[in-house]
Amino acid sequence: ARAAGSDRILAYDPAKDEENRERSALAIDLAHALERGEFELYYQIQNNVLTRRVTGAEVLLRWHHPERGMIPPFKFIPIAEENGHIVGIGAWIIKTACREAASWDNPIKIAVNVAPVQLADPDLPIVVERALVESGLDPQRLELEITESGIISDTGFALQVIHQLKALGVRIAMDDFGTGYSSLATLQAFPFDKIKIDREFVKDLGRNKQSEAIIQATIILSRSLGIPVLAEGVETEDHMVLLAREGCSEVQGYLFSKPVAIGELRHQLRDDMAM
Ligand code: C2E
Ligand code: CA
Ligand code: CA
Ligand code: CA
Repeated sequence: ARAAGSDRILAYDPAKDEENRERSALAIDLAHALERGEFELYYQIQNNVLTRRVTGAEVLLRWHHPERGMIPPFKFIPIAEENGHIVGIGAWIIKTACREAASWDNPIKIAVNVAPVQLADPDLPIVVERALVESGLDPQRLELEITESGIISDTGFALQVIHQLKALGVRIAMDDFGTGYSSLATLQAFPFDKIKIDREFVKDLGRNKQSEAIIQATIILSRSLGIPVLAEGVETEDHMVLLAREGCSEVQGYLFSKPVAIGELRHQLRDDMAM
């Protein structure tokens, strides 16, 4: 009895309890966040390694909670994925991003994150097609970022959806490369237009030989498959030198810009056009 008692005491973790309470509260508020207009799209530019010109921008979701202020994606995206709200939110993101991008003078690409549950939704190609038609955006300017976890659960279905998306003319990027499992097989089987190397490997470039070797191998492999590589989380000129030497095509990271609201992005795009 004593052991059971102490077990119970060990199992009760006030920090975990508080975390669960916060999760439940956020899940409830999340159900109304879209209709209440609490979401905003931020954009982080992507740059060509050699010319440094802007090639695209990744769309990153921000939630302005009426009482809690700005809530970072790592706190609410996993909840929205779990309860399926990300499907409706994700459709709004695609629609809004296409509409905003269609109005810019600088015809850069926009990269939109697609969660695994969105990829498992048979309506995704319809959602994307409608967003393209309504906005008039050139499909080549829309890039969908998918992760390996989005394709390993049902590879056959994911491949079918991706072929439907490609038929619309949109581009597909493999996100967070190097963090998943079946990387090599996946690269061969899927028609990726870009590979994004995860920040995990970029952040200790120059200090960790192993990260450097992984980046080197990824670029060699991608090149042999004819797929350009973008490195994310680029924060220093030293990173740039190493990535340029390895043959990386594009970069994204704080060295060029943090994710910004649309007004600030417009300034960045204007400056880039004047380059
Ligand atoms: P991700 O797709 O890997 O996005 C890149 C994250 O790295 C962003 O964090 C970005 O702000 C951050 N980052 C970019 N450059 C640097 C850098 O140089 N240094 C550092 N320290 N960080 C950098 P963010 O915006 O907090 O988003 C986190 C994650 O949340 C994203 O990771 C993505 O998985 C998810 N997410 C964000 N927006 C969306 C969305 O619209 N839909 C879906 N499904 N997921 C999203
Ligand atoms: Ca991403
Ligand atoms: Ca990423
Ligand atoms: Ca990442």
